[in-house]
Amino acid sequence: MNEGREFVGRKYSQEEEDGMRAAMGEWAKQASEPFEGEQQKTEEEMHMIEVINDLIREELVSLGITDYAAAEPARVHLLSAEVFQREFTNGPHAIFLPAEDLAAVNCDNADTDQSKFADILHELIHRASLQLFYGSKDKRLSYARLGYHFRTPWKQENERDVLQGFNEILLVHTQRKIFMKNAELLRREFGFTSDDLDGPIYNYMRYAPLLQSIVTSVSGASGMSESEVFDEFELGQFRLKIPIMKEIARAYGGKALRTLSYLMALPEGEEREKLDSDIIRYFATEDRATRDILGEEIHEYFLTHHNIQDENGNSTNTV
Ligand SMILES: [Zn+2]
Repeated sequence: MNEGREFVGRKYSQEEEDGMRAAMGEWAKQASEPFEGEQQKTEEEMHMIEVINDLIREELVSLGITDYAAAEPARVHLLSAEVFQREFTNGPHAIFLPAEDLAAVNCDNADTDQSKFADILHELIHRASLQLFYGSKDKRLSYARLGYHFRTPWKQENERDVLQGFNEILLVHTQRKIFMKNAELLRREFGFTSDDLDGPIYNYMRYAPLLQSIVTSVSGASGMSESEVFDEFELGQFRLKIPIMKEIARAYGGKALRTLSYLMALPEGEEREKLDSDIIRYFATEDRATRDILGEEIHEYFLTHHNIQDENGNSTNTV
C-alpha cells in the first residue's frame, strides 16, 4: 500500500483514472460491510487483527518502509466455511482481493487460534505488498501486480501469472520471520508456541530450501551477505523496483527467471509436484550445463501442461 495502487498496462486519461479510483473506493466501502451470516468478531479476534497490524508495521519499518496503512478490522472477514464458499471459493481457505481491499478467512478450515492468526497475517501481508492495477477499455479492472506476483491482463490471449509461487515463498518467509522475531509476545498475548506457528505454514516449508539455494548463489555471485540478500528479496514484495531479481539471472544464467516463474504455476496435483521438484533441483544444481538442460526440460514440461485459464476468477471485476 506504500508506493502502489497505480495503474499500468496502457495510457489512461485522467478521467479514466478518476473513474477507476472512484469505483475502487465504492467497492472498498462495500467490502467493510459484513456478509450475510458473518458473525461478529470476538474480542480475541479484534485483538489478533490489532497485533497483526502492529507486527506488519514493525516488519516494514525494519526494511525502511514507514507508511503502512493498517487494515480496518471490518475488511477482515472471518467466516464459516459455508459463508466463505458461498462468497468466494471452494479452493484456497483464505483470500485477499486487492481492488476491494478485502481479506477473508475460512475459519472452519483455520480451526485453531494459531492457524486463524497465521491466515490473517498471511492475507494482510499480501495486502501490504505493492499493488498495481490494469483497467481495460471496456471498464474491467484487474490487478497487474501484487508483491512479486505479476500478471498481464492486457494480453487477453496469453494472459499469464508470473512469479506467483515465488511471491508465496517470500511471503511465507516474511510470515515466519515475524513469528520468530515476536515469539515471546505471541506466547504472552495468545499462548502460541513456536511449534504451534510452524504448523499453519508447514505446507510452504517444502520450498524453504529453494529460497536458501537462491540466496546462497546470489550472495556468492554478488558479494552481498546472505542476510542482505534475504532482506532485499523480502523488500522486493513492497517496492516498485526489484533490483535483486537481476542478480538471480547473473548467478544462474538468463533463463533462470523463466524457470522460477513456473513455480506453483500448474494447478495443484501430481504435475505441479513434479514441475516444482524439478525447479527446486534446478536452483540447487551447481553445474551450469546440467542446469541448462534441466531448464529446457522444465520449460517444455510447463508448455505441455499449463492451462492459460485464469484460475483466480475473483481477481477481476467489472467497474
Ligand atoms: Zn498467499
